[in-house]
Amino acid sequence: MQKWTKNVGSLISYAERIFPDVEIVTRNLSGEITKSNYGEVAKRAKKLGSSLEKYGIKHGQNVGSLALNTYRNMEMYFGISGMGAVMHTINFRLHPEQIVYIINHAENRIIFVETVFAPLLEAIQDNCPTVEQYILLCSAEEMPETKLKNAISYEEFIKDGDEKYEWPELGEDAPCGLCYTSGTTGNPKGVLYSHKSTLLHTWAGSSANGMGLSADDSILMVVPMFHVMGWGLPYIGAMNGIKLVLPGMGMDGAALVELIQKEDVTLAFGVPTIWLGLLGYCEENNIKLDNVKQTIIGGSAVPYAMIKEFDEKHDVNVVQGWGMTETSPLATATLRTPAMDKMPKEERYKLQTKQGKPIYGIELKIVDDDGNRLPEDGEAFGKLLVRGPWVNKRYYKHDEDAIDADGWFDTGDISSIDPEGYMTIVDRAKDVIKSGGEWISSVDLENAAQSHPDIMQASVIGVAHPKWDERPLLLVVPANDKKDKESIYSFLEDKIAKWWKPDDIVFVEELPIGATGKVLKIELREQYKDHLMK
Ligand code: AMP
Repeated sequence: MQKWTKNVGSLISYAERIFPDVEIVTRNLSGEITKSNYGEVAKRAKKLGSSLEKYGIKHGQNVGSLALNTYRNMEMYFGISGMGAVMHTINFRLHPEQIVYIINHAENRIIFVETVFAPLLEAIQDNCPTVEQYILLCSAEEMPETKLKNAISYEEFIKDGDEKYEWPELGEDAPCGLCYTSGTTGNPKGVLYSHKSTLLHTWAGSSANGMGLSADDSILMVVPMFHVMGWGLPYIGAMNGIKLVLPGMGMDGAALVELIQKEDVTLAFGVPTIWLGLLGYCEENNIKLDNVKQTIIGGSAVPYAMIKEFDEKHDVNVVQGWGMTETSPLATATLRTPAMDKMPKEERYKLQTKQGKPIYGIELKIVDDDGNRLPEDGEAFGKLLVRGPWVNKRYYKHDEDAIDADGWFDTGDISSIDPEGYMTIVDRAKDVIKSGGEWISSVDLENAAQSHPDIMQASVIGVAHPKWDERPLLLVVPANDKKDKESIYSFLEDKIAKWWKPDDIVFVEELPIGATGKVLKIELREQYKDHLMK
């Protein structure tokens, strides 16, 4: 058979030829909705690629971006990687010190930045000596006053580019994307994706057992494009001619509902915290999400109550996905099966709280602290290890591999696997609660609590205890004015083991949310560390 080393730019060239009119819809910074399509995105990506080449960007160099989900970001995904450079997405919600670290570590020469984030970079640019030029994601007329070095508008930068530019041939393992994990301790670590790993991931994600997408779908991409290459959706969209709806800054319930209704959204992707806001908005305004068939939710555990609400109020099926920056990210999913259709609803919802079965290409195993493989009986739990062609081998610029001799990567998650192959996250290793030597799953406790009608959001942390080392503390964002601890305790009684009962319940106005939409338990643990010692 023939040798095949393709560049991810080939995806957008394919979409240009086969699906030129399929729309890419964007909510602009001004709030209005504008339309592009794969044909346009491809031409402009080529203009961008050729402009970067003319500027002197070399193969393998990291080009930074602080960008929202928009058609210009789509162009960058293909233009930057396609010309042989590396699309380095930077999470603009990180602490400025972490952004400085990341820019310096990646040695970015050019950074593409939304006009709204220009002040953020102005404040740190003196600490980023490798950056030669900032390109603002706007037209020449929209250029704001800025002190950013050699600032130029995106439209000006690509103006003389070649829309027939041909993507170069790149090597088998040539890099195409770079994403740093938002580690809560130590410096962020970079995961460098290759063209090959990205294309394999795109195929796997496109398969019926990956995410079950088709060209009939219209996808609302709430997952930010800086988070693990937007879960691969820009590539999957181009390969399959799927309409993409990109919300820009408009992430509140009203803005999302407007897009869902106007753009006939059938599938929506995002983290649970975003859907909490959307569901709340729908409830308050008596809205049913009519066109939506499925939501694909990952990033943190999806509560039972959310799965039920989507199904019962909106007739929307929830597919839970699990993955991480180090796994590109798609690894497991809980796809709807014929067997699920025959189950009583409650049983199905319960199954959907599992993180799912691996998609082809990904292997999973669970091991004890000594590395011994544990049985896949749905009961035993231990460290979750993963391997596959789109799993990280070595962090960017690290000297040592991040995998063991057999290729297994330790995810830092604690899981069980059942006889049917469903993986369940019991906890993040660092969030597990150890009470008198036994483990309590914060994920299970949160799930049980979140089904209480007076609870909007729940988080459980382990806090120091004089007798048991650690005991669970339940933090609750109430759904209404009712703050009744006794009602919560009696609700939990038949849902959890007796000794899992939280030692206290604290009502809070909100929970601290991190840069990728997850509850920051590290902050909660610090804040409440003496709560049970008093
Ligand atoms: P990140 O690299 O920032 O995407 O974070 C990856 C981590 O998020 C995983 O190792 C899990 O701990 C967590 N995670 C992702 N998806 C899920 C899920 N569906 N359920 C529970 N935890 C998840």
